[in-house]
Amino acid sequence: MGVDLVGAVRDRTGVEAVIDNDANCVATAALAWRRPLAEDLVALTLGTGIGGGLVCGGELVRGARGFAGEPGHMVIVPGGVPCVCGQRGCWERYAPGTALGEMADEAFMSGHVVLGRSQEDVAVPSGERLVAAARSGHMAATEVIAEYCSHFALGLANLMNLLDPALVVIGGGVALALDIMLDHVRSDLASNPTLADRMPTIEVAPFADAAGVVGAATAAAAARERGPTG
Ligand SMILES: [Zn+2]
Repeated sequence: MGVDLVGAVRDRTGVEAVIDNDANCVATAALAWRRPLAEDLVALTLGTGIGGGLVCGGELVRGARGFAGEPGHMVIVPGGVPCVCGQRGCWERYAPGTALGEMADEAFMSGHVVLGRSQEDVAVPSGERLVAAARSGHMAATEVIAEYCSHFALGLANLMNLLDPALVVIGGGVALALDIMLDHVRSDLASNPTLADRMPTIEVAPFADAAGVVGAATAAAAARERGPTG
């Protein structure tokens, strides 16, 4: 605990260094490339968990100890699935990319979704196979996608109530399926009367898979401009 990693990197390389988490880097990239919408922003990374980068009034929200923007541990199902954080029913047990994969596995094993021969390549992750099936018009696969989207929308609705973002950007593997998910998510959000008339723009994070890298480079460039901070 308490390791000065930034100082260690700076000492060894002779250049300014910054340290941040991936979702904050995605938010930093959006802030650099998607103003003015990004001045009130929720950046979400949907992978093995849910990372969050929150921007209010053009400033990244960090909290008192640097732990702001961890929406994955908002409870959306009281008494629900256990989470590594010790709670039950956290959002990131229901809506990250891994959850979509688990839902796909369950749908395939139960026979709810039966794929055609061309979609059975087990080398392809199950979530991707489910998305491909839904994209080709497979009704049962679309139902599973819709259920996943309702879990995602539930957490996003909480963030909208809290932050009223103008822009929501999505990073991580699930972002590649946003084209078939967006209607489901918007429909769920629109059914909430308090949110229906203040829908944010929801889109894939700028630079898609490279958003975190671009954001990290942007933050490093800004640190270099500021110069030594001691
Ligand atoms: Zn949790």
